[in-house]
Amino acid sequence: MTDVQMFAGPSDLHLHSNHSDGTESPAEVVRQAHAYGLRTVALTDHDRTTGWDEAGAAAASLGMTFIPGMEMSAKQQWRSVHVLGYLFDPADAALRAETDRIREDRVGRAERIVRSIGRDYDLSWDDVLAQTTVDATVGRPHIADALVARGIVRDRTAAFDGILHPREGYYEPHYAPDPLTAVGLITGAGGVAVIAHPVTSGREQMPSAYIEELIAAGLGGFEIDHRENTEKGKRMLRQLAAKHDLIVTGSSDYHGTGKPNRPGENTTSDEMVARIIAQATGTAPRYP
Ligand code: AMP
Ligand code: FE
Ligand code: FE
Ligand code: ZN
Repeated sequence: MTDVQMFAGPSDLHLHSNHSDGTESPAEVVRQAHAYGLRTVALTDHDRTTGWDEAGAAAASLGMTFIPGMEMSAKQQWRSVHVLGYLFDPADAALRAETDRIREDRVGRAERIVRSIGRDYDLSWDDVLAQTTVDATVGRPHIADALVARGIVRDRTAAFDGILHPREGYYEPHYAPDPLTAVGLITGAGGVAVIAHPVTSGREQMPSAYIEELIAAGLGGFEIDHRENTEKGKRMLRQLAAKHDLIVTGSSDYHGTGKPNRPGENTTSDEMVARIIAQATGTAPRYP
């Protein structure tokens, strides 16, 4: 068997569990991915790695390959940027310190948003806590779920289009490092850094000069096939990736019932999965 066959796809390298803002346990996420025909998966919860062992065990029991990952929050000026990290060392002190700081700041920020919403709607912090599993990375999706539970909005989408949208005035940012720092921390921990959904419609993207800086600093590639990327943006990224010989991925960004995204709606080629594995030195993939 060649190396590529060992981790043959279909592969989806961007999935969330209830350790962040997905609605299912890590094992359930992997079972769902398997049911959708996937054979290689990465768990990429926001700013944490606590779901890896459960997801890895579920993948092993289903004969799937598991790629440990994370989606790290970053910010370029005011622009929110998500950086996917794969196969880094989860014990790396610098990376852990930074993700601890992001998660801690997310809690205070979510409390401030909820206090602000609570002046106009019947919503409390306890309502939000009731929507999180023990120690989940708290985000606006949990506030959305609390608004749904209170009967204030119909679903997460309605919450994001309404009360949680910055134009409504309740929004607050949270601490996040700049993308150069995030890429440096992930590669410094032996991982491969891939910018998640870099060209989302309706959001201003990073200046191309800054993207070139990220590439020079060791950025591994771009998540191009993602439902929120624009066609024009995808063309630009494909050209940039070809010019610099970068990794390109496709993924679902599955969040359980929290978003319409389904596992495997976009996939990553075996060749690109192989390149991620070959570049990483921080932790090994878990083969069946
Ligand atoms: P936060 O990081 O707390 O600002 O929340 C952003 C998260 O909300 C992202 O990671 C998405 O997963 C989720 N999100 C953004 N927009 C939507 C939406 N329209 N419906 C459901 N979830 C969303
Ligand atoms: Fe999310
Ligand atoms: Fe994201
Ligand atoms: Zn995501």
